Amino acid sequence: MVESITKDIRELKKYALDNKVPIMLDESMDFMIDFITRNNLNKVLEIGSGIGYSSIMMALANPNLKIVTIEKDEARYLEAIKNIKKFDLENRITLIYKDALETKIEDKFDLLFIDAAKAKNKDFFNRFEKNITEGKYIITDNISFHGYVDKDDNEIESKDLRNLVIKIKDYINFLEEHDQYTTRFYKIGDGLSISQKK
Ligand code: SAM
Repeated sequence: MVESITKDIRELKKYALDNKVPIMLDESMDFMIDFITRNNLNKVLEIGSGIGYSSIMMALANPNLKIVTIEKDEARYLEAIKNIKKFDLENRITLIYKDALETKIEDKFDLLFIDAAKAKNKDFFNRFEKNITEGKYIITDNISFHGYVDKDDNEIESKDLRNLVIKIKDYINFLEEHDQYTTRFYKIGDGLSISQKK
């Protein structure tokens, strides 16, 4: 990657850290980029743009990739617009400012990337899985949720955290039992799942 792009990415990551915007971990980002490249995926729908970091990384690594990404937080959306422009990716990344659960998308995609409110993974999956072409994929990030998903529920003191972890476990069961998708779970970064549509 050219030096100026590397510097801009470093600045993007620093902004995220300074402003407490969660972005994908390096290990998961590399894994997902490699997955997209190896499987020749060309169209991605992302739920949860944040400040645009993951879409920018995916687009920079795959010159043919087109991404539609949805963000409901105004400040993050505005920051993402700025960043996508900075990297000159406006032609390949379409940003939608809306709650994904109120957004209708008609197009078909090779990959749905779910990285928004973790308690709502199943709602995002159910709303957008019809947009996935047969044989293609849904990736969900933070499936281990900082290791809490491997713990017993009553080991988690905070009620909110416990409820969130219960929802993630329920989502994992939902994926395991889904008869139209085959899912594999990866202990990479904060844990991610890849579901392939049959
Ligand atoms: N994918 C981004 C990255 O790695 O650069 C990080 C996304 S961050 C983990 C999750 C984002 O999802 C937050 O910015 C949050 O505002 C957004 N979000 C949560 N629920 C949402 C919803 N229902 N619709 C759209 N965006 C949502």
